[in-house]
Amino acid sequence: MQCPFCGLDKDKVIDSRSAEQGKVIRRRRECLRCKRRFTTYERVEETVRLMVVKKDGSRVPYDRGKIISGLTKACYKRPVSAERIQTLVEEIEDQLYRTYDKEVETTDIGQIASDKLKAVDRVAYVRFASVYKQFRDIEDFLAEVKEVMDTAAPLDGPTQGKLF
Ligand SMILES: [Zn+2]
Repeated sequence: MQCPFCGLDKDKVIDSRSAEQGKVIRRRRECLRCKRRFTTYERVEETVRLMVVKKDGSRVPYDRGKIISGLTKACYKRPVSAERIQTLVEEIEDQLYRTYDKEVETTDIGQIASDKLKAVDRVAYVRFASVYKQFRDIEDFLAEVKEVMDTAAPLDGPTQGKLF
């Protein structure tokens, strides 16, 4: 770090501490030439948060809490641990950040989340999908349920509940 007094770019750090609840690292430095001390602040570069485009075209910042609450509701009384929901959210976010740069539509988030949930618990999946897809009519819903039941058949025997 360039010394503000003599301009030399050689110093040693004599003290480091975090500030602003860990958002900033404050370092006390000493110039190796003039021995004067100065302070630098280091913070994570502010990035544009992922924005979520809603059906009406409005935009809100991505909110992890909404995904967690949606998944938690869908998994109510299902054999899915809170820990599993947490890793599910991390997987979803991982895919979101890899696929979308600045904006993502709510329906895309719903699709990603339900695809992942489908592999974890099929009942929770149907619940989740029924909310996010907002099935236009009962036919759509039944088709979805049927699809799930067809693929779930081998799992829904006596072993159900022990798998996860
Ligand atoms: Zn200096």
